[in-house]
Amino acid sequence: MARSVLVTGGNRGIGLSIARELAAAGDAVAVTYRTGEPPEGLFGVKCDVTSVDDVDTAFSKAEAEHGPVEVVVANAGITKDTLLPLMKEETFTDVIDVNLTGAYRVARRASRGMLRMRRGRIILISSVVAMLGSAGQTNYAASKAGMIGFARSLARELGSRGITVNVVAPGFVDTEMTGVLEPEQQAMILKNIPLGRIAAPADVARAVRFLAGEDAAYITGAVLPVDGGLGMGH
Ligand code: NDP
Repeated sequence: MARSVLVTGGNRGIGLSIARELAAAGDAVAVTYRTGEPPEGLFGVKCDVTSVDDVDTAFSKAEAEHGPVEVVVANAGITKDTLLPLMKEETFTDVIDVNLTGAYRVARRASRGMLRMRRGRIILISSVVAMLGSAGQTNYAASKAGMIGFARSLARELGSRGITVNVVAPGFVDTEMTGVLEPEQQAMILKNIPLGRIAAPADVARAVRFLAGEDAAYITGAVLPVDGGLGMGH
């Protein structure tokens, strides 16, 4: 039977690619979207991950359509880049609220059904920036590094119940998020990527499919870099 999957921020970019990859592998996929329309052919549930009620409703709708959520991908994320002396408090806390606290809200709600089923896969989308740091991204790097400590603690809590918790750390991926960077910034990043190209969203999606699948049954608490070597395994 198809597994019930929920991908946050699954209406575009990396999240959409993950949703399509898992749907193609036979899963019943629900995606959350905040703005616009849900993508063609996928079950869309409206949700802002900064709202605990939205997250709860999104899970309830996905469960009503596809059954208890067995695989969750916390992918929704934002950047609000600026150097620290210019960074207002809400520029810091907004990014933490979406990226880190949002992942907490999603994983917490997901764990309810997974604990009952005694199985599940929780996958969090972090970033190479969590390990490398990045000037102008103290808020983003803190949120993404926080996800790793969160995931590893949760992996310890849920391991005995057959639930794995893993992190995917993409490098530089071709989406709207990176499209805003200046060509010079892009060229500079490219120089530091051993594989010599930026990632396509599908590169990340395939790693997520692996962690969500049977072949990754004995992997938990891991951080899987998908960065063309940019972070050299960190
Ligand atoms: P995009 O900017 O293309 O898409 C972001 C997604 O997150 C959208 O679906 C957006 O929904 C959703 N989202 C943003 N804020 C919220 C919110 N408050 N509640 C619910 N959904 C929200 O980003 P990418 O696809 O590039 O990034 C996806 C993830 O991958 C992010 O966590 C990002 O940090 C991470 N990542 C990206 C990298 C890259 O190079 N692109 C590198 C490393 C990590 P909406 O359309 O409604 O705004």
